[in-house]
Amino acid sequence: MRTMEQSKGMEQAVYPGSFDPITNGHVDIILRGAQLFPRILVAVLENPKKATLFTTDERVAFIRDIFKDRPQIEVEAFHGLLADFVRSRRARIIIRGLRAVSDFEYEMQMAQMNQQLNPDLETLFMMPSARYTFLSSSLVKEVFALGGSVRGLVPETIERRLREKFKAQSESSST
Ligand code: ADP
Repeated sequence: MRTMEQSKGMEQAVYPGSFDPITNGHVDIILRGAQLFPRILVAVLENPKKATLFTTDERVAFIRDIFKDRPQIEVEAFHGLLADFVRSRRARIIIRGLRAVSDFEYEMQMAQMNQQLNPDLETLFMMPSARYTFLSSSLVKEVFALGGSVRGLVPETIERRLREKFKAQSESSST
């Protein structure tokens, strides 16, 4: 049975992703979501099959740090099925960002699969501000690795973390 809070839609929404690393496009979606829901749970995917630049602990810690002054935004790592994780947190709403038509097919597939796995789930798609529609974590990593500036595309702390990570990587490859 739903509580009063849930039936009025006053519930938490889960925003899942790899966040490797979080970009200003993700931040934009989180802040938009926080205007619609009393709580946003950012769920950081731990996927042993997918190589990431930052570890799960790092990705979680970065997002926690960025939103440390906003208790409404929580961050947790998860692995396995998203539908199970959302259920375990007694949530029902999944937020995903839609940038371009290219995102649409994959996102629709995922949303329908999650609905199949748990018919109570609703996926809500949100569009970021136009200036972030071309932005992705992989593009940020590529540009940064080639020496380009990512200022304004990621939070400042992430720019610093990228610098540290690439420095550590180049030091370990030169020894
Ligand atoms: P995933 O590996 O699950 O796609 P990402 O970290 O790349 O994880 O993205 C998480 C969610 O955020 C996805 O719904 C993705 O479409 C969305 N997203 C990624 N970049 C942006 C952006 N620049 N603006 C809006 N949404 C975005």
